[in-house]
Amino acid sequence: MRKSNSRRCSRASCTNAAIKTLTYIYSDSTAVLGPLSTYAEPHNYDLCSLHSERLTVPVGWSVIKEEIINHNTGPSEEDLMAIADAVREVANTETGGKTMQPELGRRGHLRVLPSN
Ligand SMILES: [Zn+2]
Repeated sequence: MRKSNSRRCSRASCTNAAIKTLTYIYSDSTAVLGPLSTYAEPHNYDLCSLHSERLTVPVGWSVIKEEIINHNTGPSEEDLMAIADAVREVANTETGGKTMQPELGRRGHLRVLPSN
């Protein structure tokens, strides 16, 4: 008997709940990582968040990752704006109130660097 609403990661020895489905398209040498599929299919592999991030594919294959639309991880736009404000505040403080970059717009370019 299968529980239809309890999908587990398909990686050996992993018991995490699956959140994404990996589909191999052999004809295109492409692996598609997308939202958890509704039905389990022969070429689909359910993955937990950990294993979907650590996804590796054979050499020569490409990976297409479909973002989960309603994701709630990572900084939101509000967070980014708050960070931008804080950075500007520090910059103003360091220059004694004088603005070093008066051309910096309200939505100045922000670079979020990966933390690895
Ligand atoms: Zn897993």
